[in-house]
Amino acid sequence: MAATEFDAVVVGAGPAGSIAALTLSQKGVKTLLLERGERPGAKNMFGGTLAWCPAPEELIPGFWEKAPWEREVVRRVLTVVAETSATSMVFRSDDVDRPFRGRVTLFRPAFDAWLAAQAQAAGVTVVCGCTVEGLVVCGGRVCGVRVGGSDGVVEAPLVVAGDGALSFLAQEAGLHAGVHAEQMAVGVRALYALEEDEIDGRFGLVRGQGATNEYLGGTEGVRGGGFVYTQTESLSVGLVLHLDSLKTRGFAPYDLLERFVGSVHVAPLLRGAQLVEYSAHLLPEAGLSMVPRLSTSGFLVAGDAGGLCYTNGLTQEGMNLAMTSGHLAGLVGAEALEVGDVSAARLAAYDRRLRESFVLRDLKTYDRAIKLLRRDRLFSDYPEVVGAIMEQLYASDGAPKRRVGSIARGALRDRIPIRETLADLIRIGRSYL
Ligand SMILES: Cc1cc2nc3c(=O)[nH]c(=O)nc-3n(C[C@H](O)[C@H](O)[C@H](O)COP(=O)(O)OP(=O)(O)OC[C@H]3O[C@@H](n4cnc5c(N)ncnc54)[C@H](O)[C@@H]3O)c2cc1C
Repeated sequence: MAATEFDAVVVGAGPAGSIAALTLSQKGVKTLLLERGERPGAKNMFGGTLAWCPAPEELIPGFWEKAPWEREVVRRVLTVVAETSATSMVFRSDDVDRPFRGRVTLFRPAFDAWLAAQAQAAGVTVVCGCTVEGLVVCGGRVCGVRVGGSDGVVEAPLVVAGDGALSFLAQEAGLHAGVHAEQMAVGVRALYALEEDEIDGRFGLVRGQGATNEYLGGTEGVRGGGFVYTQTESLSVGLVLHLDSLKTRGFAPYDLLERFVGSVHVAPLLRGAQLVEYSAHLLPEAGLSMVPRLSTSGFLVAGDAGGLCYTNGLTQEGMNLAMTSGHLAGLVGAEALEVGDVSAARLAAYDRRLRESFVLRDLKTYDRAIKLLRRDRLFSDYPEVVGAIMEQLYASDGAPKRRVGSIARGALRDRIPIRETLADLIRIGRSYL
C-alpha cells in the first residue's frame, strides 16, 4: 500500500466503520476500510435486533427493503424469572400501516458483509485480513495507522476508529485511559436451527414476523439478562452478563448459558432444534460515564469503540448508535478534509453533532436506568418478590384473600428492608418516569 494513497482510513468493517467509510466515499473522499476478519462480519455476532434509524436509508435509498435482515419484530416478551415462577409482559404490535415497525432481527456475518459491499460499490477500498496494530502520529496529529503483516504503515490525514469494544486505538490517541471490567458485559450466544413454520407456530407469528423474548433474573444473581430471538430459520439464545458481577459471583458464562438453555422457559422453545454454534463477544454497558471525547487531531471514534451502546432494561441498542455515529463521523470528516483542516478544534464538531443526535441524547435520557441496572438486587431479590406476589395473587387455598398491597408488603418484608425498598422505588421512578 503506497503512503498517502488515501484521504481517510477507517478501521473495522462493523456497522460503524462501514457506514463511516460509505459516507466519506459518497462525499468524494478516497477511503480505505481495514478489517481484521477474513471478511466483514466474520468476527461479529450479536443476538439481537436492529432498531430503525435514518442514517443508512440516507446513504442507501431503500436500505430497509434491501438489507439482508431476517424477521420484522411484532411481538416482544419481557419475563421476570424467579426460582419457581416467571412473570411475563407481552407486547404485540399489529399496526400494519406503519411502514416499518422499528426493529428487525438479523445475522451479523450476512449483514456486515452486505453493508461493507455497499461501501465498496461506492468506491471504498476494502481490505480484509488486515489488523491495525497502532496509530501513526505526525507532529501531535494522528496521520495514519500501522498494520500487521508486511504492509507496514498507511498514512492518511484522517483516521476513523470503528474497531469495536475495547478500542485500543481510542486509548492510544489519548481519548481514554483504558476500559474497566465494570464497564463491560459479555454476550454469550447459542444458535439453533429450526424450521421456519415451527418458529412461526411456537412464537405465534405469521410468515416474516419476528419475536423477541427477554428475561430478567434466572442468572444465579449475576447482573444481566437472557434472550431468545427469532431469525428466519434459527433461534439465537443467549445471555448478556456484567463482567464484574460474573467475577464476584464466581460463575463461568457458558455454565449459566447451559442452565438458561435447559430452563423451563427456554427448553420447550428449542425442542427438536439443532445447535449450530456458540459464540461470545464483549459489549460496552456503562452508558455516558464511559463515553470519552470522540475526536482529536486527525482522528474520530464511532460505535462501540466510543462506548456508544447500552441497555436500559427494556431494550438493547448498539448497532443503530454505531451506524449513526459512523455517519456523523463520515460527514464531519469529509467537511474537514474538504477545507484541509483536520485539527482537533475542527473535528470537535463531531462530538457536538453526536450530542444533538439521538445517540448521546438517548444515552443521557437513560443514564439513570443504565446505572440502576448495576444494582445486584434487581437480578436476585426483586424477581423473587415479583414471583412471590404473583404466586399469592393466583393462590386459592381456602384462606380469605388479601389485597395486593398487603401481599406485596409481606413479600418485600421477607427480603428487603422497607427503607431500602422505598429508596429503590424512587430510583426506579427517576430512571424511567
Ligand atoms: C450478545 C450481544 C447482543 C447484542 N444485542 C444487540 C441488539 O439487540 N441491538 C443492538 O443494536 N445492538 C446489540 N448489540 C451491540 C452491537 O452488536 C454493537 O453495538 C455493534 O456491533 C457495534 O458496532 P461497531 O461497528 O461499533 O463494532 P463491531 O460490530 O464490534 O465491529 C468492529 C469491527 O472492527 C474490527 N476490528 C476490531 N479491531 C480491529 C483492528 N485492530 N484492525 C482491524 N479491524 C478491527 C472487528 O473485526 C469488527 O469487524 C449486542 C451485542 C452483543 C455482543
